[in-house]
Amino acid sequence: MRIRAAVLEQTGGPLNVEELELAEPRPGEVLVRLHASGVCHSDQNAIDGTAATRCPAVLGHEGAGVVEAVGGGVGRVAPGDHVALSWAPSCGQCPECLRDLPQLCSTAWPAMGRGGLLDGTTRLSRDGEPVYHYSFISSFADAAVLPERSCVRIPDDVPFDVAGLVGCAVTTGVGAVWRTAGVRPGDRVAVFGCGGVGLSAVLAAAAGGAEPVLVVDVNPQKLETAERFGATGGVVWAGTPEETAAAVVDASGGGVDYAIEATGRPDAMLAAFLSTRARGAAVLIGIPAEDAVLPLPALSIPRLERRVLGSLYGSSRPERDFVTILDLYRRGVLPLDRLISHRLPLDEVERGFELLRSGEALRVVLELA
Ligand SMILES: [Zn+2]
Ligand SMILES: [Zn+2]
Repeated sequence: MRIRAAVLEQTGGPLNVEELELAEPRPGEVLVRLHASGVCHSDQNAIDGTAATRCPAVLGHEGAGVVEAVGGGVGRVAPGDHVALSWAPSCGQCPECLRDLPQLCSTAWPAMGRGGLLDGTTRLSRDGEPVYHYSFISSFADAAVLPERSCVRIPDDVPFDVAGLVGCAVTTGVGAVWRTAGVRPGDRVAVFGCGGVGLSAVLAAAAGGAEPVLVVDVNPQKLETAERFGATGGVVWAGTPEETAAAVVDASGGGVDYAIEATGRPDAMLAAFLSTRARGAAVLIGIPAEDAVLPLPALSIPRLERRVLGSLYGSSRPERDFVTILDLYRRGVLPLDRLISHRLPLDEVERGFELLRSGEALRVVLELA
């Protein structure tokens, strides 16, 4: 079938919206008619080369839509099902999956880097030449073929734009707080970086009864915005990790139990670590450059039992957590629609990235159908 999609021709951009050929789903794969896709910092990392990406590629990985057709052997979803899309289609059989760590699946990750689906081949082409998938999803398009295990069935009355965000930013931020950290009522939390992931972490911390919920950002305007998501106070980045951490320690009455780091900058990671109190943990979500190194004051680790916890995809299990998070959205506990600041058609995808880069947007969603 013919689809319209935003194609990254090469690192550096631009994204061109054009017609491509999309092949039929093979066994274990699903054709999804896409309705919405968030515009995420990871897509920006693919454009600017921070994350090496095989081109030409159709970007986008925060999608939701309706199943239109299924390949052989597919039993999880059927045509007509509404689905949110997971970029971590765990295999269920590798050592990490057997340890109940599907987000770290050792089958899916290498396949993702090759720009194909799980069998390494692509369903996208243009004039007979291959076009590559991005994170198995490629949701900057009006339809996609993707692994069955990327499809999580959701209730029909959940808006597609919110469901799309649950496929990446929301689950990453909420999961870091609830699954990786296991924040309990009364815990002190600070969130570094008020983008879509950070604000999702703020929503989860507030909903879980954390107190205080502090936010740290270079942009004072973002701290104000975070109050609408449940932040109880804000600290403007003070120029150095030490000074910023001192301000967080002061504002929290002696340091936080969990410092959630959502920027991927090593100086913010250090500030997060230094903001923790005894037995506290820095929870690192943001993706740093491949060669980044994080030096920490070692003595405080044994002496104060300080910890560093890595968090990938919110340590989540998409088929459980997408559904839980969307249920809490419907009940008003997680007002996720507040994350969406702009809605644009696919043709304005470049403008979406301008809004993301300028910091003007909370989350941009492309409306695809
Ligand atoms: Zn993302
Ligand atoms: Zn696996």
